[in-house]
Amino acid sequence: DRTVVLITGCSSGIGLHLALRLASDPSQRFKVYATLRDLRAQGPLREAAQSRGCPPGSLEMLQLDVRDADSVAAARARVTEGRVDVLVCNAGRGLLGPLEVQEAGAVGSVLDVNVAGTVRTLQAFLPDMKRRRSGRVLVTGSMGGLMGAWNGAGPAGGVGPGDSARGYSGLRAPPKASSPLEGLPFNAVYCASKFAIEGLCESLAVMLPPFGVHVSLIECGPVRTAFQEKLEGGPGGALDGADAETRDLFSRYQRHLERIFQEAAQDPEEVTEVFLAALRAPRPALRYFSTERFLPLVRMRLTDPSGRSYVAAMHRAVFADEPAEESAADLGGPALGAPSAAPQ
Ligand code: NAD
Repeated sequence: DRTVVLITGCSSGIGLHLALRLASDPSQRFKVYATLRDLRAQGPLREAAQSRGCPPGSLEMLQLDVRDADSVAAARARVTEGRVDVLVCNAGRGLLGPLEVQEAGAVGSVLDVNVAGTVRTLQAFLPDMKRRRSGRVLVTGSMGGLMGAWNGAGPAGGVGPGDSARGYSGLRAPPKASSPLEGLPFNAVYCASKFAIEGLCESLAVMLPPFGVHVSLIECGPVRTAFQEKLEGGPGGALDGADAETRDLFSRYQRHLERIFQEAAQDPEEVTEVFLAALRAPRPALRYFSTERFLPLVRMRLTDPSGRSYVAAMHRAVFADEPAEESAADLGGPALGAPSAAPQ
């Protein structure tokens, strides 16, 4: 029997590439339901599937808007196998700019897609997985979400020693000096939404083991996709509503972002392999990382839970153009003295 996979947000980016990767897998063991908010946007996926030679019946496209529970239910009803073995919650939307200029509609819409949309999708598919006592859920997370939300101890999920995800490309490369993309200024609402996803998945992961259902976050750093073009309300919003100093910081942040993308962004094909590693793991971890590059910052949060080190390191990295890992070592590294005490 083929593994039935349903993916949200497949008109572009990570969702599109994951759908293609699975549907064209030489083993032909996947049946992929690639879902799109708007089926009129299916052109690129359809063309790519043709040129990749995805076998007939390996890929089906369905309409699914995560903002609409009826649309989610309708998509579920069209899965002819009557079950989904792997659910990939990937649909997401960004929002960039000073918080004070964000319109209520844009804020609500990003939270609706990224948070409530993921909840709706899980509500539709989890009960059946629990009933069948089998299933996997992969959720596209962001290193940005993780920066704030991760307070667990122990090795970092999917990159722990001996984990089967270890072999994927780039994973063992030594972290180079760079700055993180996310956990970032001027992404307040987007980060809030991705932090929420961390809590959502961590909560479920604690409850699910008796059901044999696994949930894994695939934490991505910067990835070359349409994400920056599809920002809610365009880049930056109505900037004249912000003061001059904030506008100046914002333009510095934008230059930083551009540089980070040039230096550190991954191709979606590379990130897709991390999803596959999670999918194949006999006992999947809660978290997998698309790159090791930002793990020093993740670790800094553990060595200084007060958040001082992180805030200072990130501020310097973004606004003083200093490699964040160096700031991390200065401020929070375990070799360099005790972390600061309780938050104030
Ligand atoms: P993308 O914009 O190419 O893909 C996002 C997809 O979600 C698009 O196909 C979009 O149409 C879809 N979508 C938006 N609203 C939807 C809705 N209401 N219902 C269904 N689908 C909807 O960008 P991407 O980078 O491939 O993004 C995929 C995921 O990766 C997102 O959750 C994003 O937050 C996350 N992510 C991206 C990056 C990055 O740098 N690109 C980094 C970390 C995390």
